[in-house]
Amino acid sequence: MEEKNPLLQVVDLSVDFRLDRKTSLHAVRHVSFDLYKGETLGIVGESGCGKSVTCMSILQLNPARRTRYPSGQILFDGKDLLHMTPKQLRPIRGNEIAMVFQEPMTAMNPLFSIGDQLMEALRVHNPRMEKSEAYERSLEAVRRVKIPNPERILKTYPFALSGGMRQRAMIAMAMITRPKLLICDEPTTALDVTIQAQVLDLMNELKHEIGTSIIFITHDLGVISEMADRVLIMYGGRVCEEADVDELFTKPRHPYTVGLIDSHPNPEYDGDRLKVIPGSVPTLRDMPAGCPFNNRCAYASDTCRDVFPDFEEAESGHTVACHNWRQALQKGGAAR
Ligand code: SF4
Repeated sequence: MEEKNPLLQVVDLSVDFRLDRKTSLHAVRHVSFDLYKGETLGIVGESGCGKSVTCMSILQLNPARRTRYPSGQILFDGKDLLHMTPKQLRPIRGNEIAMVFQEPMTAMNPLFSIGDQLMEALRVHNPRMEKSEAYERSLEAVRRVKIPNPERILKTYPFALSGGMRQRAMIAMAMITRPKLLICDEPTTALDVTIQAQVLDLMNELKHEIGTSIIFITHDLGVISEMADRVLIMYGGRVCEEADVDELFTKPRHPYTVGLIDSHPNPEYDGDRLKVIPGSVPTLRDMPAGCPFNNRCAYASDTCRDVFPDFEEAESGHTVACHNWRQALQKGGAAR
């Protein structure tokens, strides 16, 4: 990564969801990470681990009335997004920072054509832009995501496109302002495998062409190995491990990471039954004290049930939050 200062710094972020006046649930606890220019950071974990809530916090997209941020800063180019007013955030949302969701229809307006929506995405941040220039740039954006017959597509409504084409149009809309940061929340989960591979290739091409940094949220380790430079593993609202992608796959340290990798078919998969992590993910209401993985972990000790572990550097650039990672490593990981 050529730049020394991170583009984005998430510092000690905690997020609570208020149920009523007296009750709050802890959705995210003390999450910190940096993202550098041109880097892709994968955030991996099962549903409810806090990965989407963390990323929605970057643009304050969690439901405003129910969400509290008991701690944290989100520094983007040195400015704290978490404490900005909606007016201060407006020029950044969809312009310097854009998002791509799993289901494009949640972000597209079904009543407007793709062309209208692309031009609107441009002109909302550049009100003086001539309509003809907005049209040309929209056409270029659709060409760049390799949608055939771009002139016709600009006149088409979202419902008339296939899932893969709709996701390409969504990516065109997100990238049209050449954002510094693109947040992708399970962007290929709803697509079949061939289309998924095409969309991932496309995102990598755009990343190199534009130099955008990407946060890629997924539960799919196969996708993360294709996309990410660095990976953050989350469980129970906490970060439990962070490493470069190759290091993480070859030398996982946290028992949960080992369990995730063991339960995912690899290219040499020989048809044997895959290992599973015993038990299920706790809900926010029944999150255990101490390490949130303690009721599923073969290495849990009394300390694990009381105290969340500090981060330790296992190797340079590879950190792990586990009281017993050395013992787990000696014995071969989580359920090995
Ligand atoms: Fe958590 Fe303890 Fe298991 Fe480590 S050994 S993952 S701290 S329960």
